[in-house]
Amino acid sequence: MRGHADKAGLEGAIIVNTCAVTAEAVRTARQTIRRAAKDNPDAPVIVTGCAAQIDAEMFAEMPEVTRVIGNHEKMQAETWQPVDLLGGTEKIRVNDIMSVEETAGHLIDGMDGRARAYVQVQNGCDHRCTFCIIPYGRGNSRSVPAGEVVRMIQRLVETGHYEVVLTGVDLTSWGADLPGAPQLGNLVQRILKLVPELKQLRISSIDAIEMDEALFETMADPRIAPFMHLSLQHGDNLMLKRMKRRHSREQAIQLAERLRAIRPEIAIGADIIAGFPTETEAAFENSLRLIEECEIAFLHAFPYSPRPGTPAARMPQLEKAVIKKRAARLRVAGAATLVKHLDTRVGWETEVLVERGNQGRLSDFTPVRFDEISSEAGRPVRARIIGHDKTRLEAVAL
Ligand code: SF4
Repeated sequence: MRGHADKAGLEGAIIVNTCAVTAEAVRTARQTIRRAAKDNPDAPVIVTGCAAQIDAEMFAEMPEVTRVIGNHEKMQAETWQPVDLLGGTEKIRVNDIMSVEETAGHLIDGMDGRARAYVQVQNGCDHRCTFCIIPYGRGNSRSVPAGEVVRMIQRLVETGHYEVVLTGVDLTSWGADLPGAPQLGNLVQRILKLVPELKQLRISSIDAIEMDEALFETMADPRIAPFMHLSLQHGDNLMLKRMKRRHSREQAIQLAERLRAIRPEIAIGADIIAGFPTETEAAFENSLRLIEECEIAFLHAFPYSPRPGTPAARMPQLEKAVIKKRAARLRVAGAATLVKHLDTRVGWETEVLVERGNQGRLSDFTPVRFDEISSEAGRPVRARIIGHDKTRLEAVAL
């Protein structure tokens, strides 16, 4: 977006890319718009992203907003032509996202100075989990063809990126809409083979039931980062059913076990929602237990918030205070498993990818802090892990 806007001569424009995943995300987006407009009274304010796609009118009604553009439009160079974008009086430029059938590969030029580059290989989602608003912001699932993905990664490697992260809304559905319906595992194998100079490939977040056999196989490859973020959402089978998730608690545990059998040093992350409608204390405790049973080192705990238009928003809701308390209890459990995970890393001699200043990460994504480091960002250094502060490791460069 920034590339398109700069090329069109809109360097001074404020672009707010909104998120709709929780009510809090939308509230923060509105607040950001107000603040940005106040700090930059002469700049046009362009609002886009999922919250803008889903409720364009709400943003258009804000006096601070110059234009609202859709998630598809924001990636088209022509959208950003000042005559088209700022001409006329109609504030909203948002099409029906469900009619979009293709996704272009984004992020061609990489990100300056970053240790890792993110490549979006898939967008949208064909599932309709009952709590989730994302498909209404992103549309149905569509994939970037493998050849295009490989070309993008080659270019990122040429521009000096050490690590590439494959991202998508529903990453494991990659390929279903492409000729021959290849699967994510095939894509990963192809990248490793065709871009031998790529040092590290990371898979961002996957659906717990959709990992294909080729993907399991490639997890053993040392160039694949030993890290997996699972979209688990709950630890209770009835809640999972009401969420319209496609896996059971037992399958989540088996998946974590299988991943550990393939890569014993793997670190697992997960999303879990607290306070889904009708969640009893016993059901909630199943989520709490799942954190331990799957040994989730990196937990993202979300307090449930009803998203207008979703089936879960019409189910009997829990009190806000109960939801908040349960989310806090999930976080306490997550903090404890993180400490256990950090304990296992103390004493290791390993590579740390420097991100910026004295910060970096292990290949399993564990954050690391150095007392002193002379290596530049984006390069790995050999280090000894000497301790941790309960949130990140402490290391000395060797
Ligand atoms: S699979 Fe993920 S993105 Fe798709 S509807 Fe479910 S939670 Fe939302």
